[in-house]
Amino acid sequence: MSDQTPEPELNPKVVYAIKSNEHLWAITTIRTIGDDFLNHFDKVATDPDVDAEEGWPAATDIIGQVVDCVVCEQPYSPLARRRRCPGPRIHPGIRRL
Ligand SMILES: [Zn+2]
Repeated sequence: MSDQTPEPELNPKVVYAIKSNEHLWAITTIRTIGDDFLNHFDKVATDPDVDAEEGWPAATDIIGQVVDCVVCEQPYSPLARRRRCPGPRIHPGIRRL
């Protein structure tokens, strides 16, 4: 029995960005979560859905937003935007949506 976790299937936009060395800019909203949310996350073992009306405990305050490249994780700047993406540092949670 293998204990290796299978590679997550990449979103086609991520695959294209990697092959073309283009940044894939994204905005991430940062919300605080509590024990109820984490307990549910541990139990269901699926991607968290903070916008679901049922099942998931509510995430709490939005404490910030970040704009960075999904592939290389560089923060956005006008200079970074003009440069080619240096390559993947893929977030393990990115999957085909
Ligand atoms: Zn990049």
